[in-house]
Amino acid sequence: MTDVLIIGGGIIGLSIAWELSLVGAEVTIIERNTCGMGATWAAAGMLAPQAERLSGNLLDLALRSRGLYPNWISKLQGLTGMECGYWQCGILSPYMNEVLVWKHNLQNLPQYCDRQQVKAMQSGLSHNVVGGLWFDQDAQVDNRALAQVLLAALRQNSVKILEGVSVYSIATDHHHVTQLVTSQGNIQGDRYILATGAWTKELIPLPISPRKGQMLSVFDPNRSLKTVLFSDDVYIVPRLDGRIIIGASVEDVGFLAGNTAKGIATLLNNAIRLYPAIANMNIQSTWWGFRPHAPEEIPILEICPKYSNLILATGHYRNGILLAPVTASLIADLLK
Ligand SMILES: Cc1cc2nc3c(=O)[nH]c(=O)nc-3n(C[C@H](O)[C@H](O)[C@H](O)COP(=O)(O)OP(=O)(O)OC[C@H]3O[C@@H](n4cnc5c(N)ncnc54)[C@H](O)[C@@H]3O)c2cc1C
Repeated sequence: MTDVLIIGGGIIGLSIAWELSLVGAEVTIIERNTCGMGATWAAAGMLAPQAERLSGNLLDLALRSRGLYPNWISKLQGLTGMECGYWQCGILSPYMNEVLVWKHNLQNLPQYCDRQQVKAMQSGLSHNVVGGLWFDQDAQVDNRALAQVLLAALRQNSVKILEGVSVYSIATDHHHVTQLVTSQGNIQGDRYILATGAWTKELIPLPISPRKGQMLSVFDPNRSLKTVLFSDDVYIVPRLDGRIIIGASVEDVGFLAGNTAKGIATLLNNAIRLYPAIANMNIQSTWWGFRPHAPEEIPILEICPKYSNLILATGHYRNGILLAPVTASLIADLLK
């Protein structure tokens, strides 16, 4: 195996690096900030192909990735002795509008649960919940912890991690990448992988653009919520340690940083409407991140049509945490 340079140390770059390190490649990650602090840090960590209502090829890819998760995680945790909060807690999509249930014929879906069943599954939901869909195979992972576990695994496998190094441009001849021009001089490899998330356009003219998401967390000392709640206007993700993550807006505002009063108020109002106990929980923090949006919401996972030693692994939009294991496996196959 040859020298592989990966641009971007988010979940996608880290997962690919790990997969390649397992087959003996010499891998270097080049990250301009700190690894795992982009969209990877901001995410909710839901592994939710069904609750997200994915369809077509993307659903197939996502189901495959969800299926890879248990082994992938146990391998990583076994190697590092660290935990990443993988929890097959299922995801419940509650409905508060009977008309909507009938309009979409939800009551005939195999996942449909009526009011009584939903209430038996999770106490404390709004009295207005009329039914819901239960996706028992959907799960979650603590995405921030997962990035740290991946980093530890990479260090154990001697992957070189260059943090605080910006790639300014990708130098090419007719059909090849020749080197990366970086803040620490030119760096050469045999193969190059672009995993730069929402910032991809800075280096290559691909149709990837940022979609901002605002989030917040509250703390539930009673650990009363046992499953993820995923409704049309909010999702509520209980972590094993008592944190509850509430998200997220989807805003087409470029890289405009910051939480807005409206963004956070809307999330909180929707969350309290669905799960009233949140009203009395302490707010822990608020944050935002930039999802890498691609056309049709389908990630770009291929050898660059213009440069044969450049692989594209970007545009995972709302599902990059979910799609990490399958992306790593597909990209490793492309490098064989
Ligand atoms: C609010 C929010 C909620 C989300 N919830 C979920 C969820 O529940 N489940 C799920 O599966 N997904 C979720 N996502 C989506 C998921 O977070 C992303 O799809 C995923 O993190 C993308 O990973 P990435 O590695 O491509 O990008 P990032 O994590 O953004 O990493 C890209 C990295 O590339 C680096 N970089 C960029 N340009 C350069 C350069 N020129 N030189 C060097 N380094 C560079 C950046 O600094 C960054 O660290 C959510 C995203 C957001 C924002």
